Formats: sequence, C-alpha cells, structure tokens
Amino acid sequence: MNFPLYWTDQQAMSWPATVLASGEDGIVLDRSAFYPGGGGQPADVGVLEWGGVFTRVEGVDGSGALVPVAGDPVPPPGTPVVGRLDDVRRRSLMRTHSALHVVCGVVYRDFGALVTGSNMEPLTGRMDFNLPDVPDGFKADLERIVNEEIARDRAITARVVSRDEALANSDVMRTAKHLIPDQVEQVRIIDVEGLDAQADSGTHVASTKQIGEVTIAKVESKGKGFRRVRVTLPSA
Ligand SMILES: [Zn+2]
Repeated sequence: MNFPLYWTDQQAMSWPATVLASGEDGIVLDRSAFYPGGGGQPADVGVLEWGGVFTRVEGVDGSGALVPVAGDPVPPPGTPVVGRLDDVRRRSLMRTHSALHVVCGVVYRDFGALVTGSNMEPLTGRMDFNLPDVPDGFKADLERIVNEEIARDRAITARVVSRDEALANSDVMRTAKHLIPDQVEQVRIIDVEGLDAQADSGTHVASTKQIGEVTIAKVESKGKGFRRVRVTLPSA
C-alpha cells in the first residue's frame, strides 16, 4: 500500500514530483506532502515551482487534488515540479495538533473526561470534552500539568496498524471520535509515548518539547457536561 508523503515523512516541506493530471480546478501529483485537511487540522497551502513558473496552492479539494489560486498558470500533465509547503504555517499546525493530543491525554488521565471534538488553526486550537463537573482551579491545573508533560519530552510517533489491531487497542478506541469505517483496512496511530494514542491522519512534531509552552486561554461551558478548552501556543 502506498502511503501519502505527509504520513511517511511528516518533515517533508519540499519535494520533487510529477503532475499526473491537471486543470484549473485541481492538480494531482504522483507524490504530495500537502495535508488534505481532516481531524480538525486544516489543509496545507504552498506552491508548485516548474521551470521558473510558480503555481500557488490554496488548499486541497475533497478528492485530494491541489487547488491552484485562480488565475495562476497550471502545469500540464507530465510536468516535473517541486512542491513546497508554507512551512512556517505547517510547523505551527504540527505543534498545535500535537499540543491538543497532550491536552487530550492529560484531561483523560487526570480528570477522567473524554474528547468529543476539536479544531485548530496555526498556534490556536480548541478541544471539547464531556466533563460534568469542573473542579476548582481546573484551568490553571490543566495548564501546569500539560506543560509538565511537554517538558518531559515524550516521543510522538506514527505507526500504521491493521483495522483489527486498532479495534483491539483500548486507548485508540477510547479516543476514536467516530467509529473506524468498515472499508478502512489500515489505521494510522499517533502515540504520545505513555500519555495518549489516537487514530489520526494529521501531522505532528517528533517529541513534546518541540510544541513549546502552551497557554490554556479559556475554559468555556457550552451546555450540560460540555466544556470547551482553548489552547494557544507562542510562535516558534
Ligand atoms: Zn489529532
């Protein structure tokens, strides 16, 4: 099975590729590190360079094709290109996504609450939890513990397992926001060593120290048991 480049090399910010198909509404490459969006993480943006020409990429459509900025020249099929992500934005998203997994692990381990949803932009994210009673000092305690875990520099690893193996992993199933669809034969798992494991297709930093110190900016109540935690990160 061929895995996308953003799975096999999360650090790939620039790579050679060949255009397989193209038109004004979408470009398909043989290899792409553009994250298509999903799991709360927005799609990458960047540029394709070919023979001194630049095609700006503003996102990825539902079929996985790269969406060029309207009016930019589009490379014809067969063209060799160099793909480049907006690496500052992508690294910010990797740190933000990994930070949310640390928050998820701490909120479950220390407060017994399950995640019900999440979303992020570079350097800011939110996580929703089912937490009926908010203990005194929750916001400050959560921030302190999350930063202690980040300072432990836990490894963050990605691995791909069979559907059966994923279903047998209680940590993974606990954090599975949606049941894994029947047709999915292989599941990618992001492991924050000793703290959190989730089925996840997103991009992450290699260890928690790379996240940097986070701030729990806000804890909101959105309804019965429904808490929303807002997390912010400093720029690198
Ligand atoms: Zn995730």
